[in-house]
Amino acid sequence: PSADATPKLAEEDLRSPICCIMGHVDTGKTKLLDCIRGTNVQEGEAGGITQQIGATYFPAENIRDRTKELKADAKLKVPGLLVIDTPGHESFTNLRSRGSGLCDIAILVVDIMHGLEPQTIESLNLLKMRNTEFIVALNKVDRLYGWKTCRNAPIVKAMKQQSKDVQNEFNMRLIQIITQFKEQGLNTELYYKNKEMGETFSIVPTSAISGEGIPDMLLLLVQWTQKTMVEKLTFSNEIQCTVLEVKVIEGHGTTIDVVLVNGVLHEGDQIVVCGLQGPIVTTIRALLTPHPMKELRVKGTYLHHKEIKAAQGIKITAQGLEHAIAGTGLYVVGPDDDLEDVKEVTMEDMKSVMNRIDKS
Ligand code: GDP
Repeated sequence: PSADATPKLAEEDLRSPICCIMGHVDTGKTKLLDCIRGTNVQEGEAGGITQQIGATYFPAENIRDRTKELKADAKLKVPGLLVIDTPGHESFTNLRSRGSGLCDIAILVVDIMHGLEPQTIESLNLLKMRNTEFIVALNKVDRLYGWKTCRNAPIVKAMKQQSKDVQNEFNMRLIQIITQFKEQGLNTELYYKNKEMGETFSIVPTSAISGEGIPDMLLLLVQWTQKTMVEKLTFSNEIQCTVLEVKVIEGHGTTIDVVLVNGVLHEGDQIVVCGLQGPIVTTIRALLTPHPMKELRVKGTYLHHKEIKAAQGIKITAQGLEHAIAGTGLYVVGPDDDLEDVKEVTMEDMKSVMNRIDKS
């Protein structure tokens, strides 16, 4: 066969990394995402969604555009970035755990005025337990007394515009927070001074209100993942997919929101998901996503796709999803697969979900 007959994989065919945003309530997790998306979810663009896991896709073009001032001529090799947002309320530990379990890298948000708080520690423990890489967004720098706004500026540039007093207050708070992390057994350092990435976790100062440091945060996430996680991010044909939510949507019936971690889903694929009364075997009727930079949880118009490559947050419509169980895996029945085997594998997930429910 000629060389052309075999589909050639791109030199590095990478999927989008999945990033989750964690931290204590009110540190600005939603606002940070709003700042990148140009939306206003935080001020109730979407009532009630704070009790669900959300997902937003940022295409590489947008990331390139937002980071151009940093003049990092580093290539973006990933098609985009999928950000998962988990509910902050104390009673949603299981949802936070589910969200963080999907991610390749996390943003741990710390309020510069408050330092480490109880849920910061909870998040840290989840991250440590799973050995998940993370960066720290030291948010609300605009609240330092006398802060001069430099809208959407890279943080080094913004910091240079500040008075000595502001810089001193920043440094003092930074040192305190680095010490608090040390008490948790972790080394942290400002990202542009961090020479041991991987051993020392990077801190990016940000403001979700005026956007300082947001370019730095985006670039760091993308560069760090594509540099150090090539193997994990290599595109695979094996489906890796988790059900986030089961929801009735007007005009669509019962739908499931899923995160496709790896692989491709097609309209018409035969799928198996866990149901309360046993495995549900059905066929994908429609693959829907929100527009890029829009939140999957928020009611809006959807884009229809014939097929979708990972990573993405997707709404799937299909028959018989009424009793599907969130937190479990979705499996595709391939041409060579035995349906009974796939059903069995699917139901294995029930056990781990039940375990988690017992514990929480
Ligand atoms: P979450 O609970 O972590 O999602 O926090 P939110 O995004 O809901 O933000 C909590 C509050 O802090 C809101 O009133 C935001 O407007 C405010 N906030 C978030 N980020 C910033 C920031 O960078 N600067 C300032 N001044 N306020 C912020």
